[in-house]
Amino acid sequence: MQQESQKDIQDHLRDSLQDSLQHIPKTDKLLNALNAELKMVNPSLLKRITLEFLDAYRQELLEGGVLLDFSTCVKRIVATYQNATQKSLKPLINATGIVVHTNLGRSIFSEEILEEIKPILTQYNNLEYNLQKGSRGERYIHLQGQFKALLGAEDVLVVNNNAAAVFLILNTFAKGKEVIVSRGELIEIGGSFRIPRVMEDSGAILHEVGTTNKTHFKDYQEAISENSAMLFKAHKSNYAIEGFSEEVGFNELVKLARKYNLIDYYDLGSGYFSVLDSVFTGYEPSLETISALNPSLVSFSGDKLIGGAQAGIIFGKKALIDKLKQNQLLRMLRVDKFTIAALEATLSAYLKGNIKVIPTAQMLLRDKESLHALAQELAAQIPPNFNPQIIATKSYSGGGAMPSHYLESFGVAIFAKDLSVLKLDETKLEQHFRRYGIIARLENSALILDMRTLFKSDFTRIVESLKALL
Ligand SMILES: *Cc1c(COP(=O)(O)O)cnc(C)c1O
Repeated sequence: MQQESQKDIQDHLRDSLQDSLQHIPKTDKLLNALNAELKMVNPSLLKRITLEFLDAYRQELLEGGVLLDFSTCVKRIVATYQNATQKSLKPLINATGIVVHTNLGRSIFSEEILEEIKPILTQYNNLEYNLQKGSRGERYIHLQGQFKALLGAEDVLVVNNNAAAVFLILNTFAKGKEVIVSRGELIEIGGSFRIPRVMEDSGAILHEVGTTNKTHFKDYQEAISENSAMLFKAHKSNYAIEGFSEEVGFNELVKLARKYNLIDYYDLGSGYFSVLDSVFTGYEPSLETISALNPSLVSFSGDKLIGGAQAGIIFGKKALIDKLKQNQLLRMLRVDKFTIAALEATLSAYLKGNIKVIPTAQMLLRDKESLHALAQELAAQIPPNFNPQIIATKSYSGGGAMPSHYLESFGVAIFAKDLSVLKLDETKLEQHFRRYGIIARLENSALILDMRTLFKSDFTRIVESLKALL
């Protein structure tokens, strides 16, 4: 009797399941509806997403899930499709005051630079073509003239990024040989680039000298042996040793290397042209100053303080750069026309003294008066409910330059106490800003928008995002 009724229940369940499964929409019918809804589609992607949806839906029903009506099915597939076809990179507003912010894409380009490089990218070009001879040309020729003119260096080579430059130089000149480095400069940058590890992978043998806080000239001198290839100096970039410390200047390493017929190499990290002297003097030497030492090799990034594209720029002695060009690795580290075009336009602006088209330089050079005026302008546009205050702030060049020195700036602050009436606090406001693509700074119960990295064209979005909270 009991068995009988259980069987009844099972039969009933099976019947209703059959019924449910029959209600799953047919693929063709769904695709027609989807095509009408989405207008322009990638047919194979849409079909794959639809089939995946139907599989998952069938599985859900088998596990006791509920039936969906046709339009709900269409809606869900449309959402998945739109998600799959969305771009991942999004423009953001940098209100942090850190000019070269690696997480936010480092240096940005101006409309003028983009207009200038547009013909190179939308048309064929002489990337590796010698127009005079009508034959194959050299990719590395392009940026040479401009860099040489700016730096007064014998030769220049541009690779994919500065990390690649460091690796290429060590691999070319110090494989199986000793590289002498101060213990105070065995740095890690950005979590993945560690000098000792890069040395090891390049085949170079690390010879540490000195101590963490003090390295003397004689430490380098005493470490030199017949197995030494190079005296290496690394910019400390993201830290500074305060107090009882001493390091040997690159000028002394250049002299010492020359005396013992070794290569001196400075991994400079950032590097800036002397038009920015007013920002960095006393903290960082300009590229021109370093080049005037007549060093063997120096490398720095293309998208840090010079404000161009991601690249590793190597300059120094022609004989050494010729050797770098013979290393097979160079083929793997080579730069694209995008990079060359963007860097060329940036360098051309420096050569012409037209640095207003280089946003990184512009932001670094902003003076207190103009920053204050910008802050006033933004504060005036913000709804009074937020009680925006103009405050003095500390902004940073970023990119590993002057890690312990700030640039005086002004910002607009919105304080927690003024947010409570709106049932908000500063962390909620910070999250809200992020949803609008605005990256701001939290400090002492306030949310701060630093003017050094903002443009007037950013104000509309900032003001609109705040209005949306009222
Ligand atoms: C930033 C930096 C690097 C890495 O340069 P990328 O262009 O990011 O590859 C290497 N060395 C130093 C000292 C740096 O500051």
